[in-house]
Amino acid sequence: MENKKIADTFLNNRCQICALLQKDEFDIFCKWVGVSDEKFGLTKERARLLKSRGFCNYHFWQLTQINSNDGIAVICDGLIEKIANILRKEKVSRLLPALVKYRHGRHCPICDDLKKAEITYIKKFIALLDSNKSQYEKKYGLCIPHLIQIAAYAKDSSLIRFLLDTEIKQLERLKTNAANFVYKKKKMLRGELTHDEKTSWFFAVEKLAGRQGTADE
Ligand SMILES: [Zn+2]
Ligand SMILES: [Zn+2]
Repeated sequence: MENKKIADTFLNNRCQICALLQKDEFDIFCKWVGVSDEKFGLTKERARLLKSRGFCNYHFWQLTQINSNDGIAVICDGLIEKIANILRKEKVSRLLPALVKYRHGRHCPICDDLKKAEITYIKKFIALLDSNKSQYEKKYGLCIPHLIQIAAYAKDSSLIRFLLDTEIKQLERLKTNAANFVYKKKKMLRGELTHDEKTSWFFAVEKLAGRQGTADE
């Protein structure tokens, strides 16, 4: 089932790893929405969140887009109490170092879960690429951040060579589609725009930066 899920990503234009992580991220958000209602008490997920000292900036704000306001307030309540408790125990001269230390020890549970999934997907992608090469060539392929990560994991130099050779062709195709999009819009030729041209801006951003939330390494 997992292999089928990964093989299916070769059928579309998105970076395979980004597409899989985006789906996982949405599922994880839904899980957090489910456990942040006060009526469930201190769930094991919320206990984990307190231990990990909160979400990263990106995931905290993303979660506000999907969660109810009171669900967010419940999550924040425990985190605020935790910081206040740490500060209450410190002398005035130690307040700032205590706050900095607390903050530095933070590791977002959503980032942690996605990082684990990312490594699994990278390994599976490498294992499945050989049987999906012709399909991979037809699409835009991996984003640049994942191409670099996969090259670091892949032991087979011919696989890396294939990915880099293909990357040049994929970038050229994407650039042509983006240039045609701009040209046809400027010349009022909207009716002649192809689907690939109209969507090129999205795939160009993903190609360059990875999906939203991809860390700059
Ligand atoms: Zn990617
Ligand atoms: Zn995060």
